[in-house]
Amino acid sequence: MIEIRLRQSWINTFLRCPEQARQERLGLVSQKESSDFLRGNAVHTAIEYAGRLMMAGMERPSLDEILEVAEEFIVSYSPEVEVWRDDYEPIVDVVRANLAIWYEELFPLLDPEAVEIPFERELGRRDNIKLVLTGTVDWVDKSGVLWDWKNPGREYQPWEKKRWDIQSHAYSWALDATHFNFGVMHGGKLQIIEIERTEQHKNAFVDLCWSMVPTIMSDAETWPQNWEGWHCSPIWCPVWQAGKCRGAHLGDNPW
Ligand code: SF4
Repeated sequence: MIEIRLRQSWINTFLRCPEQARQERLGLVSQKESSDFLRGNAVHTAIEYAGRLMMAGMERPSLDEILEVAEEFIVSYSPEVEVWRDDYEPIVDVVRANLAIWYEELFPLLDPEAVEIPFERELGRRDNIKLVLTGTVDWVDKSGVLWDWKNPGREYQPWEKKRWDIQSHAYSWALDATHFNFGVMHGGKLQIIEIERTEQHKNAFVDLCWSMVPTIMSDAETWPQNWEGWHCSPIWCPVWQAGKCRGAHLGDNPW
């Protein structure tokens, strides 16, 4: 039996560009640490801290307390950033503003059952292949809703997320949930996107995962390249950054 493990974030990479996914899976390239990750992880860490206190039966922390957790995170991890897409001070300001709006508008509505919970669930077995989905859910609320925190550079289009977002399918399937919400914090504004994933959505997601298997099992030297989209650029693709694929011909500054 051959076991294939699919991490939710890698499924997204595969769907954007199979060749990038192949090179990341084989460890030929890796994503650089960027200031976007620093901003997002600082907010995640502070929210996780708040959730764990509540799960331990303690009082809700003050806003100052969780801001302190976020700022300590930024100080500790900023030396690891390889690509600064924003300056340090504006990142601190956005993290503070995003946590403030989360604290004021969303936190009072939440009651965590689990935070930052890793999962691993078998998608099935076919033709001597066992397919396993893995990931980490940000927040499982006692209401039954799964929450994921996003700190993007711009607001999302809710209809896009509802129509084709993979993460909400994956997590709802993995945890047998129906309701998945994005808590999107952008420049101190809160956007809540509520998504319902029924059994039909989940069955379609399982089919999608199995549709990737022939490519994963192939012995092709490269997988299909997908040039079409923002991801195919020296800013976002680690394959390009490594001077491979389109990067071998077009270099660091093609446009
Ligand atoms: S350069 Fe473009 S086509 Fe090549 S791996 Fe990266 S995203 Fe895919």
